[in-house]
Amino acid sequence: MRYAEDRPAVLGLTTGPVAAWPEVLRAMARSVAYDQDRPFREFYAGVLAKARRAMRTPLPPVVLHGEPVLGLEAAAASLIAPGETVLLLVSGVYGKGFGGWARRHAGRVLELEVHYDDAIAPAAVEAMLARHPEVAVVAACEIDTPSGTVNPMPAIGAAVARHGAQLIVDAVSAFGGMDSHPAGCSADIYVAGPGKCLGAPPGLTLLGVSARAWAKMRANPAAPRGSFLSILDWEAAGDGGAFAHTPSIAEMYGLDAALDLYLAEGPEEVWARHAATARAMRAGVLAMGLSLWPAREAIAAPTVTAVRTPPGIDEAALRHEARARFGVLFSAGRRETLGRLTRIGHMGPAAQPIHAVAAVAALGGALAALGHPADAGAGVAAALAAIGTQ
Ligand SMILES: *Cc1c(COP(=O)(O)O)cnc(C)c1O
Repeated sequence: MRYAEDRPAVLGLTTGPVAAWPEVLRAMARSVAYDQDRPFREFYAGVLAKARRAMRTPLPPVVLHGEPVLGLEAAAASLIAPGETVLLLVSGVYGKGFGGWARRHAGRVLELEVHYDDAIAPAAVEAMLARHPEVAVVAACEIDTPSGTVNPMPAIGAAVARHGAQLIVDAVSAFGGMDSHPAGCSADIYVAGPGKCLGAPPGLTLLGVSARAWAKMRANPAAPRGSFLSILDWEAAGDGGAFAHTPSIAEMYGLDAALDLYLAEGPEEVWARHAATARAMRAGVLAMGLSLWPAREAIAAPTVTAVRTPPGIDEAALRHEARARFGVLFSAGRRETLGRLTRIGHMGPAAQPIHAVAAVAALGGALAALGHPADAGAGVAAALAAIGTQ
């Protein structure tokens, strides 16, 4: 039997967007409210209050009405003043990719780059900043999803704060899946979204903005105003004031339900569910004789497990077999990691330890179909054992 390609997969273990929670989808099916009407304004303020609790910020977060690439581009345009020097911390495709936006606004862009199976060392950031006191903005990605690695953002953020530069953190695939918050990272603009670990559709950006970042954006004549890219235009919305433009009403219903689920389950419980899933995934992958992409298990992300493609295996064929034979959908690498690894996403609703058993079985079965010996039985046993000991 084969699963047809034109039918949805049985089990989506992708790196996002993820299959949203049923409660989120039900909430989105409500009639579209008129955004200027008082009930919707109050509802919006309520969602910001929940987002503030979830993100643990002193100021209300900002919602931008497009998926988080909008937030990343808006952060670059708003926080970087003309002529400034920006330091990119690059351990993967997203860290590198931020440079595309930063170069449009900065005078000069420096990079501190490590191999994409490694993580940024806080001491290296400290040393780089000591050599370059002119750095005004630092940008980093917490979990560089195409590598399945996690950077030590609290220590990196502390180093940046000591130097005095402002910090932009892409936490899109970290927030909600681990203990990651704007304050913990000392982030000035912290970019997250509902389409990964919160288990909602991907159409919004959640921004944590520090008081310092607001002040810098206000003083930056080049910061977008009267623009879809503007963060400043949304400042009033945090105080119950006017919306810059019509918000994405249905997406806000979904975000509201996703935040309710996150806060009711308990953030610590949600992170533990992601961590337990990741541990079972890694145990299974290693026991079947495969290698993780991250150079050390300590830097393997809790929300995505990247598996190194065995020599001689066509990675696209591997994912194709997993989907066709077992109905299990994995993600490919991206750019530099494309073809070199397979990514098993475990974010939001998909972060369930038992999914490690299915993932390992599908990976092993697909490899066997391609003639590669992998001990799926040992992998499944190790995944189960990892779940049993948690
Ligand atoms: C998913 C993700 C984003 C959101 O943007 P895409 O359109 O999916 O690229 C941004 N940053 C990271 C690290 C992500 O994982």
